[in-house]
Amino acid sequence: MARETCHKSDDVVSWRDLMCGEVGLSQVGCRLALAGWVDARRDHGGLVFVDLRDASGLCQIVINPERASEAAEAAHQIRNEFVLRAEGEVVRRAPENVNPHLSTGEVELQVDALEIVSPSTPLPFQLDEEGVDETLRLRYRWLDLRRPRMQHNLRLRADLVSTIRREMEADGFLDIQTPILFKPTPEGARDFIVPSRLQQGRFFALPQSPQILKQLLVIGGFDRYYQIAICFRDEDLRADRVQEITQLDVEMAFPDQEYLFSLMECMCAAVWRDCVGAELEVPFPRLTHAEAQARYGSDKPDLRFGLEIEDATEATRPSELGVFAAAETVRFIRVPQAFSRAELERLEAFAKEWGAKGLAYLVFAEDGEVRSPIAKFLSEAELELFRSEPGSTVLFAADERAVVARVLGALRIHLGRELGLVDEEAWRFVWITDFPMFEWDEETERWKAVHHPFSRPAPGSEELVVSDPGAAIAHAYDLVVNGIEIGGGSFRIHEQELQAQVFAALQLSEEEQRRKFGFLLDALAMGAPPHGGIAFGIERMLMALAREPNLRDVIAFPKNQAGVDPMSGAPSEVDQELLEELGIELRALLE
Ligand code: ASP
Repeated sequence: MARETCHKSDDVVSWRDLMCGEVGLSQVGCRLALAGWVDARRDHGGLVFVDLRDASGLCQIVINPERASEAAEAAHQIRNEFVLRAEGEVVRRAPENVNPHLSTGEVELQVDALEIVSPSTPLPFQLDEEGVDETLRLRYRWLDLRRPRMQHNLRLRADLVSTIRREMEADGFLDIQTPILFKPTPEGARDFIVPSRLQQGRFFALPQSPQILKQLLVIGGFDRYYQIAICFRDEDLRADRVQEITQLDVEMAFPDQEYLFSLMECMCAAVWRDCVGAELEVPFPRLTHAEAQARYGSDKPDLRFGLEIEDATEATRPSELGVFAAAETVRFIRVPQAFSRAELERLEAFAKEWGAKGLAYLVFAEDGEVRSPIAKFLSEAELELFRSEPGSTVLFAADERAVVARVLGALRIHLGRELGLVDEEAWRFVWITDFPMFEWDEETERWKAVHHPFSRPAPGSEELVVSDPGAAIAHAYDLVVNGIEIGGGSFRIHEQELQAQVFAALQLSEEEQRRKFGFLLDALAMGAPPHGGIAFGIERMLMALAREPNLRDVIAFPKNQAGVDPMSGAPSEVDQELLEELGIELRALLE
């Protein structure tokens, strides 16, 4: 490497061999050429100092007109983000000029020759500017990508994918690509469709996931499949949602849940070790969906803090307080703070946003007094159950079970953050198992698959698919870390008849079943082995690893919140000729 080629002679060590961030005391006296971007330039009356930056870091170069008059001439023109090539000698900095925050802070390059390789127009924003508007950042993404944070996130992404591949291949999984132009694969979002020129009037759908295809691969004899797959979901965008996601997609024949979970735990442990140097404790704990809802009010609980939800439904059945006695469910959380009236009003407004009708509370003040409008209605036994440390508040929700979970789940997260209870250093993984198979969709007045329609009912729930779909449990699971759902999967239906029953429960007529999924039903009838798998969202994993709240900051070229790429302007109009070839006529769009 460069250090060996760096002889203290007149030879110039090529910049190809030594990067800016690698220059150190061992090169003092060497002649060197460095190339990079101008990160900052300081003109000190004659002497010009430049922080030269490349992918490895920064090195200070000094242009002294007494040493290099031509270089000094050029130095006056340079601005931030110009690309320069500088040749000179590495010298040790005077002790008072050492920069302890920089790996190259003990040295600098005294320049003899300077070349402006590529200038830059004035910048739309400075790389070290805080709070730049996201659309502007995306419009000039090539500049934004030069920022240390984006460099870090995308390098982390490459490390993540490389570790995943290594682990999956070591476990005997085969990387097989599946088509992008396909048929709808239901994952609960809208499809992106692509018109076919050769088959006018027909459309491909971009896969919401390779779900059916990976099942067909296992049925086709590939007993362990994986892919880093791009999935397209046309949904409204949020901080943790984009339309093009990448996922680690996995499927295997004859799955065993313990084995599959332990493979995935080992994969995660390797990723966390390689990417952020964290040693995870395996196996990960597990909660059933029902437990997670009851204790954390969420199917993706953040276990980095307590504030667990407690149940008081039975205890309050005989209560004199009508709302407690009559509610389907009564639950509460104990918060280690005695809230003031104003704070309680704010919390009540928050709870109402999540569907609560009000917020009952008991404040246990520091002086031992109980402050609450409901205390006088509670029996000694009830008060005993709710009694908490002085300096705390008990917050109640009494309503239908789902509303109670939603309200207390939201309050728990809100207060965990607000009161600084979250252990920001922790990695708390948890498997969520035993999801319901179906949920009732009020809008369409139909059952809808909670996961997707190919997940099999858990043992004992097969009959319920027909007799009581709302009570059926699926053999499906999610993996959650720090409140972020990073993965989810299931064991699949491999029996044609059972698959048809599930489609029927979703009110797909036989004709529709054949039209949409006939090929899958045919495959299930030709020797389909039991199979199951999982998929992990690469961006979600990165959000957790990089502790990035915005999914778009772990993607090189994302679309903005409106689904537009501000850089290229996509989606854009197409030529009339192309539309004609496709047999498509556009309706005049309302202005
Ligand atoms: N296809 C599912 C998804 O994309 C994952 C799975 O069931 O394996 O979420």
